[in-house]
Amino acid sequence: MLKTKDSLEENVINYLDFVFEKLDVDGYELVYKICNSKTKLNAIIALHDLTLGTALGGIRIKNYSTFDDALNDVLRLSRGMTYKSAVAEVGFGGGKSVVMLEKDQKKTKELLLSFGEAVNFLNGKYICAEDMGCTPDDMLVISNKTKYVVGLPTIKSSGNPSKFTAWGIFQGIKATLKKLYGSTSVKSKKFAIQGLGSVGLHLLDFLFWEGADITVTDINEELLQKLKASFGVKVVKPSEIYEQNVDIFSPCAVGGIINDETIAQLKCKAICGCANNQLLNDRHSNLLKDKNILYAPDFVVNAGGLINVSSELDKEGYNPRKSKEKIDKLYEMILEIYEISEKNNISTNEAAIKLAQFKIKSGIGIRKEKLYFNHLE
Ligand code: NAD
Repeated sequence: MLKTKDSLEENVINYLDFVFEKLDVDGYELVYKICNSKTKLNAIIALHDLTLGTALGGIRIKNYSTFDDALNDVLRLSRGMTYKSAVAEVGFGGGKSVVMLEKDQKKTKELLLSFGEAVNFLNGKYICAEDMGCTPDDMLVISNKTKYVVGLPTIKSSGNPSKFTAWGIFQGIKATLKKLYGSTSVKSKKFAIQGLGSVGLHLLDFLFWEGADITVTDINEELLQKLKASFGVKVVKPSEIYEQNVDIFSPCAVGGIINDETIAQLKCKAICGCANNQLLNDRHSNLLKDKNILYAPDFVVNAGGLINVSSELDKEGYNPRKSKEKIDKLYEMILEIYEISEKNNISTNEAAIKLAQFKIKSGIGIRKEKLYFNHLE
């Protein structure tokens, strides 16, 4: 996918202590490899498609085994953001960034400030938000160097999006149950949740109070024992979650967990969870279809966080009620995708991508209002 230029020089910009190297990637608007030897920042910012608006997407901070792993991650994630924004009609394009930590490198204030400077260099082409390895407090540090941030823990900003993301997953679950059983009722239905972090815990809460029968797993054994005591959930080992005989399997941990090996183990009727890039490859959505497992495309159903953070750039400022009302619409959106899939005999993932591409091509949801950074006041 990556083309190596004969002369790299023309693709390199030196700015302060930064080196911005423009990578030529087919199908992507702009991809920068960014290094700052003084602050030890090594990052990639990828802007996939800006047809519907400025790119908005999270910052993933983690240790990657290789540069190519990081590049693949950011490319896939930024493309996912394009589709997610398009389907959710938030008037943004798709972007994402990764900060690559060395094995023993810590996430320091200096590193975050340096990343903020790099974002500012792009002059508003990319608006950053939190993602794995990055907290709302980190966003506050980054905001010292750039206004192009959302999701700050301040009164005028939207803070941690996790509860809103979980609410969106809950809407997706109701739509999925409606499709499977003709009723949205969660009561006594069986769920298996993989990953009880920021989103998974909120989802567990919503399901618990509606009377669901819940099985959970996580790599944090202490957390699992606490949840067993406070929610009465069944706890299984991480490797046992796929074989649970449940109505809905909800991946809320990491990507790539729907693959040849796990599909062979799945006994669920449907999949609906928040993890990004659940399918190891797009072809795995066809395998799910063949196995008659209904899949709620991750980039549609987990758009609640994006809908919430993006609303803080509206003229009237952040309004959680407005965010919630928009997230409620994910219920109809998921049902629409199930219908497109059924009518065209294609996988639900393909149906969702086709819907996103149609919206981009037709300019549906394109940003007409300017952006208001009043969340920083
Ligand atoms: P988190 O880091 O708070 O929680 C992840 C949880 O998964 C942790 O409890 C971790 O111990 C557990 N985990 C990790 N690997 C596991 C494994 N192999 N098996 C079982 N459990 C494992 O993350 P989060 O914010 O809750 O997000 C979860 C996923 O949802 C991520 O893929 C993220 O990109 C995606 N997502 C999150 C949001 C949001 O608003 N936070 C929005 C959209 C998508």
